[in-house]
Amino acid sequence: MIPVKEALELISKHSASLTPERIDLKSALGFILAEDVISPINMPPFDQSAMDGYALNRTDAIEIYDLKYRIQAGDDASGIHLNPGECARIYTGAMIPSGCNTVIQQENASESEGKVTIVNGADNLNIRPEGEQYKQNEIIASVGQLLNPGGIGFLASAGIQSVHVYPKPKTLIIATGNELVEAGNELKKGQIYESNTIMLQSALSALSIPTESIKLADEKEVVVKAFESALEQYDLILVSGGISVGDYDFVREAMDVNEVEEIFYKVRQKPGKPLYFGKKKHTIVFGLPGNPSSALTSFYIYVLPAIQSLTGRNSPFLQQKSVALTHDFHKKGTLTNFVRAKISEHGVTVLSHQSSAMLNAWSEANALLMIPDESNECKEGDLFTAFLLPAY
Ligand code: AMP
Ligand code: MG
Repeated sequence: MIPVKEALELISKHSASLTPERIDLKSALGFILAEDVISPINMPPFDQSAMDGYALNRTDAIEIYDLKYRIQAGDDASGIHLNPGECARIYTGAMIPSGCNTVIQQENASESEGKVTIVNGADNLNIRPEGEQYKQNEIIASVGQLLNPGGIGFLASAGIQSVHVYPKPKTLIIATGNELVEAGNELKKGQIYESNTIMLQSALSALSIPTESIKLADEKEVVVKAFESALEQYDLILVSGGISVGDYDFVREAMDVNEVEEIFYKVRQKPGKPLYFGKKKHTIVFGLPGNPSSALTSFYIYVLPAIQSLTGRNSPFLQQKSVALTHDFHKKGTLTNFVRAKISEHGVTVLSHQSSAMLNAWSEANALLMIPDESNECKEGDLFTAFLLPAY
């Protein structure tokens, strides 16, 4: 059994990013760039009007300008030249003609019979110079950057159509247990509804990771065979249940038979003591305890960071924050506890229903509060580290 800190270090050490691939920018939301993006163009690509108004070849001596041209957004104005005292009607985003040194906002000008008079004194330049946002061959997005909607729009403005990113791991979720029944079926005596698969799938779909899933009976041959084929096909395998010490827990044995390298098994924590982490070639395997809260806690503390590393994130762990307890709390035993908790402006409150088998508190929880091994009698106001859960 290893301490939590060591388990976290081993996750970092053994979750290298996946081999980058090129994908369409249209599907790039949530991916991390594996390569700098260089702009093929200046942006804007030409001097551009920032206003609807009049483009002038302005000199202080002249108040009234001859209106000679009309330039709309999208027009090629490269053939137009304004002499002193001349102007063009121009619109936002339209190309500035040569000879223009100022765009007067239309609110500051009056137009009549082919003449434009400046009515409101001086105006700003109102010209967006070519290359003001970025220049051709400039790095406009860097390795490690998360592609969010704004970032994707920014790249699209440079005409970028595809990006080199770290792919999402091809993921299989395995639920083990003879007692498990899918919703929609009647529960027979001794059975329970299977809830880990949909829970993990939901957590993964929030990371845009599609998953496949299978269910296995607690039979050694079945588990061994399933792993044999899964290890060939997936980057990440999450198996729940069957990793404890019961007579019908075959997951660890199945890993051994299939030559999965065990990186750790058992962590000094509650919930999630029998957590397993192993690797075969590039495939990462997590053996999550079957108890639903143990599985989900292990997911957030260990699996999610591993996925973040596989997909190229630099700081993979959940954000952490030191928070003060709003009440006294007694922790049993000598293991590190991760308790479902709620942070408010008053501090952090440990929620009820903390048993590993119970999922009751998760919809209210916004953090997993880490209570270290030696902290048994925790007092109101004591500070602990909270791992902040994603908000979704
Ligand atoms: P195990 O780790 O297989 O010993 O299972 C521990 C507990 O978690 C048992 O009460 C199982 O019935 C329950 N359990 C295991 N897998 C699931 C699952 N996929 N959905 C809901 N409960 C489960
Ligand atoms: Mg089981």
